[in-house]
Amino acid sequence: MSATLIDGKAIAEKTRAQVQALVGEIKAAHGFTPGLHVVLVGEDAASKVYVGSKEKMAAKAGFNSVVHRLDAATSEADLLALIARLNADEAVDGILVQLPLPKHMDANKVIDAIDPDKDVDGFHLTNVGKLSAGRAALVPCTPQGSMILIRSVTQKLAGLTAVVVGRSAIVGKPMAQLLLNADCTVTIAHSKTANLPEVCRSADILVAAVGRPQFVKGDWVKKGAIVIDVGINRLEDGRLVGDVDTEAAKANAGAITPVPGGVGPMTIACLLQNTAIAALARRGLALPGAIA
Ligand code: NDP
Repeated sequence: MSATLIDGKAIAEKTRAQVQALVGEIKAAHGFTPGLHVVLVGEDAASKVYVGSKEKMAAKAGFNSVVHRLDAATSEADLLALIARLNADEAVDGILVQLPLPKHMDANKVIDAIDPDKDVDGFHLTNVGKLSAGRAALVPCTPQGSMILIRSVTQKLAGLTAVVVGRSAIVGKPMAQLLLNADCTVTIAHSKTANLPEVCRSADILVAAVGRPQFVKGDWVKKGAIVIDVGINRLEDGRLVGDVDTEAAKANAGAITPVPGGVGPMTIACLLQNTAIAALARRGLALPGAIA
């Protein structure tokens, strides 16, 4: 039997619609428009596309959507001064600095400068620490989106075995933390992991965040597993593929995300969700149940 495809596009649309409704409620009940400010430094082609989508989708959901486009030669001091201004501006609820930054800038220093209450990417050490301690935090968008996709398949995560392949600070580690917080038994695999195929075969939930095209093979997937493919890789022939050999994996998986149309669309949807959460939390206002 072939796996069910998890429709990230449709689920992201639903999440965005929920956020749009919430922004409408915030405006009506509290009289302000939540603001998302994205900072783009330089001319990286992929970053320009991502930032353009974020700008458009944030505006469509009803946010005050602002992009600060800075020259590649901007000094780190000037970028930090902009962040300080945005931190101090009451009308700004979310701040996102698009990565990667030009080489003359220290990305950690820049992220550390963002007010953690406005850190809608969830990369600030305060939010990393809160997530790790199991406290309410702004959670990185891609892992958060992946959790929504997993929960679209099953709500019963407690006791399941989860394997996350990849240990980056922006995907692998927060993903593992979220699965742990959901009472899964979690293994984080990486480039030094021994017997990786066998480790993967133990997973009821297998998350691939490796950055290598079609790296996870079909026979690494346990029968009936939920497979979340975070990877986005452009092949020489122009095709976009994930980190999982999707066609082969479908024979074993119970449910699997396609690439494109799986995790990708969830990332911006969760960014919008985080901005609404930040807007309410900063003001001590309650989160509605659908979002909390
Ligand atoms: P990184 O390059 O930061 O991390 C890759 C991880 O994969 C590392 O932990 C690395 O291990 C591990 N790895 C590399 N080779 C192997 C191997 N042979 N065996 C086992 N593990 C290996 O990537 P990111 O986490 O930033 O991104 C991962 C993927 O997700 C990429 O394809 C990226 O494009 C995609 N992505 C998609 C997003 C979306 O919106 N859908 C958002 C962000 C990323 P080690 O630590 O030992 O080096």
